[in-house]
Amino acid sequence: DWYWEQDAQLRFVHVAGALDEGSGMPPEAYLGKTRWESGALNMSEADWVEHRRQLEAHETFRDLELHRLGLNGKSFWISLSGAPMFDAKGRFTGYRGVGRNIDARMKAQQEVQAARNRLQAILEAIPDPLFEITAEGRYVYVSSNNPQLLAVTPDQLLGRSINDVLTPQAAAVVFDAIAEAGRGGASVGRQYALDLADGTHWFELSVTRKPAQLGESERFVMLAHDMTGRKRAEEEIERLAFHDVLTGLPNRRLLLDRLAVAISSTLRAGEHGALLFIDLDNFKDLNDTLGHDRGDELLQLVAQRLQSALRGADTVARLGGDEFVLMLEGLHAEEGQAASEAELVGRKILTLLNQPYVLAGREHNSSPSIGVALFGQADDTVDELLKRADLAMYRAKIEGRNTLRFFDPQMQAAVLARASLEADLRVGLQRDELALYFQPVVNVHGQMVGAEALVRWRHPQRGMVSPADFIPVAEQSGLIVPLGQWVLERACECLRDWADSPDLAHMSLAVNISAREFRSAGFVGQVSEALARTGIDPARLKLELTESMFLHDADEIADKMNQLKARGLSFSLDDFGTGYSSLSYLKRLPLDQLKIDQSFVRDVLDDPDDAAIVRTILTLAQSLDLTVVAEGVETRGQRDFLALNGCRQFQGYLFGRPSPSMDDFTPLL
Ligand code: C2E
Ligand code: MG
Ligand code: MG
Repeated sequence: DWYWEQDAQLRFVHVAGALDEGSGMPPEAYLGKTRWESGALNMSEADWVEHRRQLEAHETFRDLELHRLGLNGKSFWISLSGAPMFDAKGRFTGYRGVGRNIDARMKAQQEVQAARNRLQAILEAIPDPLFEITAEGRYVYVSSNNPQLLAVTPDQLLGRSINDVLTPQAAAVVFDAIAEAGRGGASVGRQYALDLADGTHWFELSVTRKPAQLGESERFVMLAHDMTGRKRAEEEIERLAFHDVLTGLPNRRLLLDRLAVAISSTLRAGEHGALLFIDLDNFKDLNDTLGHDRGDELLQLVAQRLQSALRGADTVARLGGDEFVLMLEGLHAEEGQAASEAELVGRKILTLLNQPYVLAGREHNSSPSIGVALFGQADDTVDELLKRADLAMYRAKIEGRNTLRFFDPQMQAAVLARASLEADLRVGLQRDELALYFQPVVNVHGQMVGAEALVRWRHPQRGMVSPADFIPVAEQSGLIVPLGQWVLERACECLRDWADSPDLAHMSLAVNISAREFRSAGFVGQVSEALARTGIDPARLKLELTESMFLHDADEIADKMNQLKARGLSFSLDDFGTGYSSLSYLKRLPLDQLKIDQSFVRDVLDDPDDAAIVRTILTLAQSLDLTVVAEGVETRGQRDFLALNGCRQFQGYLFGRPSPSMDDFTPLL
């Protein structure tokens, strides 16, 4: 510290201590001179002006902090305080003041400030949110240059807990990181996702422990690095590795992976799957004539169409070029059925890909050739299956393109036969090739009480086709609905004709109804209409249903049955014993009759099991108040056994084969 006095002209008149300590000039050198005359100090222009102004205005100044450069070339800080002096008359007589070298303090302050600035600069350079949190997960400091990366605004965070701000999953990750940092000082690399305004962001955490300070508990400094970009890039890399760039479809690699999984899961489930190898016909021509861009465009459109045909679990992949593969899973356990299902999908794709395309404003046509290979056997391998589907596709090419071929020649033949049967049946229905046959139902006295209507198909080339062969085809193709309607109408017409004949007026007629037919929306209406049109007594009409019908939505079926029952007709349960024979629906459904399946009747005299089943059915029916018809009765012995056990109605070759006319029937006793 030093002390000085200046006269009214501001010349130093007294100096004590080392004036301007650090300037390198002895204090005596100032005496008789003003500070600026001394030239000892190299003050800044602004400092000079201000200091001089204060002195000349005779103002008191206090803690004036000045940065000086000494003669020795060193800079230093001083602090000056001074007050003007006046004589008794109030005239200014000079200045008196103290000075202090504050260099050490200023340098320390500067360092702190510099450190602070540096830290601030670092914080500003970090795009990621930075937090200080207590061990309990309370936010005590938040810094974020991108507040949109926070779940709530920075000031809303302060004082709140991680649990209130983050999702439970994200909070758990943060607490894990804090716990790890608590044990080992730091935790790096844990990740969590947060749904923010612009979508999901991924964050990678770095947490360091900050030891407890005076008045503070242990804290954790956490940096949440937004790694969404990296995550997206990783996903993109993954996508590129397993997807075709042009169409976005899975590529060969992903297909092979999925096929391997599908083979084993299909085997486990006892189901089938299918590979459809799809190759566009004459694609090269398009590429050559219209150029590769148009070719690419077509491939993209094909990919879109294939995807639109996909069911949930299916995969469509592009192998490269104009080759696509569709993988179907969850097909039927029975191979023939599975083949039909695969064929159905294949046909759908044929139709779909045959629709015209618009390429660069011009319509263009394309077609595929499709090879199908089924899988579901223990020894199926990925390579083998792909090869089979490929081979089948080549056959489709050889045999005219724009078509579909199965790998297995036998299966191919079966599918073809079925398909041609279906086509024939469609035509046959229109050409009136169907006929209705009748088989009598007799009572214990051998008197005819009714008949069952059985459909026949007189095929112009195949001859008489059994309903056992064409009913399943009709069911699968949906033709059963018009076919069933035809049968029903014919049956009602017959009943109307019989009503005029004294021998037949009392007879009932049973009509077989398939599940799909019964389920069809218009069924109740169709029956009502046929009844109204023919004016027959509904009590004469029996509908034969099978047990399989009640497996699904039994309530809906029961509802329909009740609606029909209300119109006066009755129900018979056909082939009883061969299906699920659940007692619960026997009670729940408005049934009138059971028909014991002919498979039990056939061996009823030789097989004690069948005899027991037949007896049980008869007892059961009696207790449920249902009548029983035994089917397939061919011998007197069978009839007697059945009668002995309480059966009152019979149907079978013993009494009459199905015949086109009821007149042929001659009662037998
Ligand atoms: P189903 O309803 O069980 O008909 C009885 C079948 O047993 C008839 O075969 C009949 O000819 C045969 N049958 C009758 N008595 C005897 C016998 O003493 N011994 C033997 N071995 N067989 C006998 P069909 O006519 O070939 O019909 C087969 C199945 O086709 C029928 O079984 C029925 O499920 C279905 N079906 C027939 N007509 C129609 C129809 O119009 N609509 C529907 N949805 N299905 C029909
Ligand atoms: Mg029947
Ligand atoms: Mg039957």
